[in-house]
Amino acid sequence: MIEENVKDLLKQLEAGNGRGEKITLVAATKTRTAEEIQRAVDAGITDVGENRVQEFRDKYDLFTGANRHFIGHLQTNKVKYLIGKAHLYHSIDRDELARELAERSRRAGIISDILIQINVGNEETKGGYPLEEGYAVYSRLKDTAGLRVRGFMAMLPFTDDERILIPLADGMRELYDKARAEDSNISYLSMGMSGDWKLCVSRGANMIRLGTSIFGKR
Ligand SMILES: *Cc1c(COP(=O)(O)O)cnc(C)c1O
Repeated sequence: MIEENVKDLLKQLEAGNGRGEKITLVAATKTRTAEEIQRAVDAGITDVGENRVQEFRDKYDLFTGANRHFIGHLQTNKVKYLIGKAHLYHSIDRDELARELAERSRRAGIISDILIQINVGNEETKGGYPLEEGYAVYSRLKDTAGLRVRGFMAMLPFTDDERILIPLADGMRELYDKARAEDSNISYLSMGMSGDWKLCVSRGANMIRLGTSIFGKR
């Protein structure tokens, strides 16, 4: 089941996104066991993302062979547990968090790769900067010692209505293109979950985070 899902998804992603770019599939592994995750990795998953620091830490040594992303809301006082372990932080959604991560990274002598999270649908239940502020946030963070901004992350609103989703996805790609035009570190637009990844990929996302499509219902 997991193996079949991974092979099927990787095959569908082979052609790349709407811009002909390679797509990175990040398996969203919240609530999944290390054994399930290892099966996904053995079937071809190269990158996995956890939502909670506790789960990230608990499972860290229990499987091998994948880059470990952090994709969930991150409390400032828990940053210390991820330093040097997270391959990419998708969810930098406030300056205070960026400052803490930068400081801890500098102290450890490393540079942490981050995405700026955008609350593209202006939803109260979601974290992230407003889309209109995305470029200013990027400009503010891009020269921070200890951090390397690699792109942007967004979660689209939970709806099937493409008239709502397409303009939002296109707004994200526009922001990504604007930053990328001047900065070769910008390489990732992380957007797309099990319900909307096809739309996101067609509109230019090049990193998607899938849980249900790989592991089944939570
Ligand atoms: C759970 C989660 C996903 C994956 O959700 P599915 O609908 O199960 O694919 C992606 N991104 C984040 C931030 C998540 O928390």
